Amino acid sequence: MRTVQEESFPNEVESIKDGKSFTRNSRLKQLSIECAERALRVRSRINAAEQLSTPSKNPMILDRNHHTVKLWIIAMHRTRHHTGVEATVNECRQHYCILRLRPVTRTLFPQCLHCRIRAAIPPHPRTGDLPACRLAHHQRPFTYTGVDYFRPLTVTVGRSQQKRYVAVFTCLTVRTIHLEIATSLSTDSVIMNLRRMKARRGQPAQIWSDNGTNLRGADNELRQAMDRATSSPSSLGQQAA
Ligand SMILES: [Zn+2]
Repeated sequence: MRTVQEESFPNEVESIKDGKSFTRNSRLKQLSIECAERALRVRSRINAAEQLSTPSKNPMILDRNHHTVKLWIIAMHRTRHHTGVEATVNECRQHYCILRLRPVTRTLFPQCLHCRIRAAIPPHPRTGDLPACRLAHHQRPFTYTGVDYFRPLTVTVGRSQQKRYVAVFTCLTVRTIHLEIATSLSTDSVIMNLRRMKARRGQPAQIWSDNGTNLRGADNELRQAMDRATSSPSSLGQQAA
């Protein structure tokens, strides 16, 4: 680092050796500099502190634009597990006094591949168009309905603890919801919930759901009932009666 100082501040080193003051254009003119242990050091006010070494009390002054100084700052950043700008600046200041340290540290960060990868934000994929049921304006709510179940809730019935599921019906257009309590996840329970929902909210034109076993079972059963009803008009009349 003494060699770095001689390359960065040749005029100042010569002035110190000759016992002269710095020139008016010197970058160190405004600082309190002294020569100790064959290096230019910043004079501080903590010389009375005991158990502190000279580099701690009077750190060497370095130029931020020197290549060795930049490598040393990057090394400090890496050995401190890729800390941020402020933490790296703090670590560096405990060893040397580097002119305008924070701006140069900030410019060195993009050179660290590890930090670039860590800070990278993955690009968001383009979202697809909404289906028509999400855009069905001027329709009664629940004309297009989505249905799903959520996990069992434990309820107290008498002295026993029993499970109850909740069926969530949601209008796909205006996103309002309708809740129904289900005693089980069976096909019969799904059909009963559908009947209760339709009685309150009206007949949906479409019902969307995931491929839950109970929902698939209810779908098959309703389709079979529809086929039986449409194949024989007499049975339809009996059911209507
Ligand atoms: Zn890094």
